Amino acid sequence: MGRIAFIGLGAMGAPMAASLVAAGQEVIGFDSADAAREKAAAAGVRCAGTAQEAASGAETVLTMLQSGEQVLDVWRTALPCAARGALFVDCSTIDIDSARHAHLLAGMAGSKAIDAPVSGGVAGAATRSLTFMCGGDAETFQIAKPLLEKMGARILHCGGQGLGQAAKLCNNLMLGVTMIATAEAFALASRIGLSASALYEVAAASSGQSWSLTSYCPVPGPVPASPANRDYAPGFAAPLMLKDLRLAETAGAKAGAVTPLCAAAAQLYALYVAQGGSGKDFSGIFEMLQGG
Ligand code: NAD
Repeated sequence: MGRIAFIGLGAMGAPMAASLVAAGQEVIGFDSADAAREKAAAAGVRCAGTAQEAASGAETVLTMLQSGEQVLDVWRTALPCAARGALFVDCSTIDIDSARHAHLLAGMAGSKAIDAPVSGGVAGAATRSLTFMCGGDAETFQIAKPLLEKMGARILHCGGQGLGQAAKLCNNLMLGVTMIATAEAFALASRIGLSASALYEVAAASSGQSWSLTSYCPVPGPVPASPANRDYAPGFAAPLMLKDLRLAETAGAKAGAVTPLCAAAAQLYALYVAQGGSGKDFSGIFEMLQGG
């Protein structure tokens, strides 16, 4: 598999890069933030001083960044320095057009590419149980799969270029909406005298069940590992959920799809972020709904 460059060592990238190191891979990381590099280094990831340095001669280049613009910038920098025919894998959640543009850049440079956004959050990254949703040709998917298996439990091929991102946007539309519905139900329960533990017990065994409830419960108590138990420290930050809902809305508008709940969820997350939720986990929207 050769040397791996891992660029973007934030909440997700650092534990993912550490998983590759733990699996015996030679990894050189880079992040533009000093704090992220230091944290990744503490987790065993050797870091370079620039993206070029990390990518130089690498046979695989992974990116885990915040936006399509960042991914395209980093790929433009890394493609000329990586080994000939290198595999580029973007695990960020970005817009479909940027993902397809990244595939194009890679093709022009003689490299192989896969868009491979993930689900499972920081906990999934730490426990190597992520789900990867991959877009690209079948041959490149088969090449990327053994690498992704070192960081995840389910590696799924969703179709051609950009369709990994398409799957991720549809998934996160469901996640954003179910989180708001779950938080709204707990806020209602507290106003009408029903305890959070009673609602959890019922809904977890009933038709209100969802990942937002049983893995990531937005109220403190029922799910000890959920961010609600640590004052909504992210986790999956609210601005990232807002970003994903807007990406889904844009993709829907371009395709003529009707996405009213996506639009409503984006509006609520925009309000939450503006009202102080920018540094909090997306499940913290419960606080806004409870106070409203
Ligand atoms: P993050 O903000 O913690 O990490 C992103 C890192 O990229 C930051 O450390 C930043 O300094 C670095 N960066 C930005 N531009 C750079 C550049 N030009 N060169 C090098 N480094 C650069 O974000 P995250 O939570 O790790 O999320 C990363 C991606 O994964 C996002 O697209 C997000 O939507 C997606 N995602 C996140 C989660 C989650 O639970 N956090 C879950 C699934 C998917």
